[in-house]
Amino acid sequence: MLQLSFALTRHVLLRKKILASCKRPAVFMSTLLINQPQYAWLKDLGLKEENEGVYNGKWGGRGEIVTTYCPANNEPIARVQQANLEDYEETIKKAKEAWKTWADVPAPKRGEIVRQIGDALRQKIQVLGSLVSLEMGKILVEGVGEVQEYVDVCDYAVGLSRMIGGPVLPSERPGHALIEQWNPVGLVGIITAFNFPVAVYGWNNAIAMICGNACLWKGAPTTSLISVAVTKIIAKVLEDNKMPGAICSLICGGADIGTTMAKDERVDLLSFTGSTKVGKQVALMVQERFGRSLLELGGNNALVVFEDADLNLVIPSALFAAVGTAGQRCTTARRLLLHESIHDEVVEKLSKAYAQIRIGDPWDSNTLYGPLHTKQAVTMFLHAVEQAKQQGGSVVYGGKALNRSGNYVEPTIVTGLPHDASIVHTETFAPILYVLKFKTEEEAFAWNNEVKQGLSSSIFTKDLGRIFRWLGPKGSDCGVVNVNIPTSGAEIGGAFGGEKHTGGGRESGSDSWKLYMRRSTCTINYSKDLPLAQGIKFQ
Ligand code: NAD
Repeated sequence: MLQLSFALTRHVLLRKKILASCKRPAVFMSTLLINQPQYAWLKDLGLKEENEGVYNGKWGGRGEIVTTYCPANNEPIARVQQANLEDYEETIKKAKEAWKTWADVPAPKRGEIVRQIGDALRQKIQVLGSLVSLEMGKILVEGVGEVQEYVDVCDYAVGLSRMIGGPVLPSERPGHALIEQWNPVGLVGIITAFNFPVAVYGWNNAIAMICGNACLWKGAPTTSLISVAVTKIIAKVLEDNKMPGAICSLICGGADIGTTMAKDERVDLLSFTGSTKVGKQVALMVQERFGRSLLELGGNNALVVFEDADLNLVIPSALFAAVGTAGQRCTTARRLLLHESIHDEVVEKLSKAYAQIRIGDPWDSNTLYGPLHTKQAVTMFLHAVEQAKQQGGSVVYGGKALNRSGNYVEPTIVTGLPHDASIVHTETFAPILYVLKFKTEEEAFAWNNEVKQGLSSSIFTKDLGRIFRWLGPKGSDCGVVNVNIPTSGAEIGGAFGGEKHTGGGRESGSDSWKLYMRRSTCTINYSKDLPLAQGIKFQ
């Protein structure tokens, strides 16, 4: 009890220290943030001015040196030396070698090590969440929430480590057993996007590990410090357990390293999370070598609101789904389909809610809405707003970049566009919500499904028949199909992913573990006869 209260006090003090330090303005504008006393907490994650971005049991890196920037002020945080192709070669060999040890560890024991990783993340949840806020730019609660998601997946994976397995099936032949055996695929390459720099790796890593795979991770270059910090936490657990560190290898790099992974036959499964454009290139490279890929690509998600919807649920749901993470979630609501009878009322209420959004530094606990990740994202936002206007849309809220340091834009609502306008069918990774007016259920369901992507979708209604039509064969064609909740904020227990140009992959919960394993159908003859299947006599 005393220990718990001590830990809580320490936790609260550390959080206060981080928050207080983040609020102070940067003193030396040209120096790295990590060298300023108020960012000393970054050292609690083992980070320094210049960090090695390759881990394979040993830290190293001989590639380009990348500086990462804080999106809230564009100040440089610290540097990470990326991998070159020699580092890649050395690391993949070590990862393959490490797999031989890991595959021999019984699954529940692998689960125990994953449990320790979850605990190690728990210890660092505030400081790592703060780094997510500092380097990616999302608000602190979401940064901490991402680490929590990894912890949750670890817990889930621990249970799974005692449950994965195949059925024993009835054999048609006497004295024969027919069983399904699941084995790890071997080495799982994991390429992740900037917007979930911890959680997406977590979903893949914890599940891949209990399945008996080694992992080779390449995060986004702009969130390299997070990749290094997470890997340091995992590496310590592996080392404490006298396991080869290369079981969870890290290879920081850009498109060159990503392409090398996609083409490399030694990568037994390539899990790719990112844009549809890059994902398609990756998928084709993997397919070219008959490899396996798991794709988690772009979304263009709709909230569909019917005339009988409870608007007390609709407004906060639309706000969270469209504006949360400044519109930089794959599940962000980009289209709001409103029944014509409630269109004006919802637009008015939502605009009022937008006016209440507290914009500010992402690490400030009062802030609900932070910056975009990069300057280029601001340019893309402005371009999309212009396109929307040219295609017939009216900006009823926002539409501009904010006049402050950092990559801030106004959360934006556009009405009046045709449902099939090309900009409406484009995933602009920014907080722009296109509001469309529909007349019938048939029209609304068709519009939901007419975009190329198929990630997340949600309807708001009290009509039971409509709910089941939405879930059924002629309803939403997405991988995430919700009712009376936002499109974003998925739980880890369900399989996560989407259809069509979202790539078809599933990660995290339910039976997604199967994608990280290979299945063998095994027939064992324990009789003295040799009956053939289908009654064939071959004599
Ligand atoms: P991105 O496609 O630009 O980059 C993703 C990753 O691919 C990065 O690590 C990048 O370095 C790497 N990469 C770039 N070029 C490559 C190449 N030629 N070969 C191999 N790897 C390469 O995406 P982003 O801007 O980082 O992330 C935003 C996108 O990710 C959005 O489209 C979003 O919807 C999507 N996303 C999807 C999910 C999901 O679960 N479906 C989750 C998060 C993000």
